[in-house]
Amino acid sequence: MLDHAEIFDISPLVSSKIAVFPGDKSFETIEALSFDQGHNLLLSAIHTTVHLGAHADAPNHYHKSGVGIDQRSLHFYLGSAQVISVQVKAGERITPAHLPCEINAPRILFKTNSFPNPDCWNNDFCSLSPELIKFLKSKKVITVGIDTPSVDPETSKKLEAHNEIFKQDLAILEGLILNHIDDGLYQLIALPLKLKDLDASPVRAILLRTKHD
Ligand SMILES: [Zn+2]
Repeated sequence: MLDHAEIFDISPLVSSKIAVFPGDKSFETIEALSFDQGHNLLLSAIHTTVHLGAHADAPNHYHKSGVGIDQRSLHFYLGSAQVISVQVKAGERITPAHLPCEINAPRILFKTNSFPNPDCWNNDFCSLSPELIKFLKSKKVITVGIDTPSVDPETSKKLEAHNEIFKQDLAILEGLILNHIDDGLYQLIALPLKLKDLDASPVRAILLRTKHD
């Protein structure tokens, strides 16, 4: 089935230019060996926040008793997903009233177009409301994704959406690129690395569409 699927890449390019949350560790590469220096190999290391580009947040990022990313079920990151465009004012949270259609998949990816350039930080991106999280849970949603760096506004200290997501045990995908994706149903693959006890992992997020979807 995968052999005949159309693949849509919904991950930003990860480079030293990619924007990270203000104060967070930006992405840096270190070359231990390189052909240019006369070595027989190129061998690199990276030093970076794990909240990099398209990434999955783990519950221990937003709750003291949450588990790390290695302990999360892979079902959250693999399977039917629905892309939904929402028209929301800059900086505002998405509420159930903003939803233009019914919820038809257990993984919902919100296209807000409010963080247009992954290499250029803007602080008025859209985020999610706790009411929306409760509503999605009532519709059997297990994963929420968004095309912004966070499910809460940049300046939020109370992290209302993160907290509600913890209560409802949903999974979070942030930093997705959805501007080239039409609304509708797809298969999502966005597996996090098995990083022990870490609070997030970068993912290579893709959407698949087959003739039968
Ligand atoms: Zn994050």
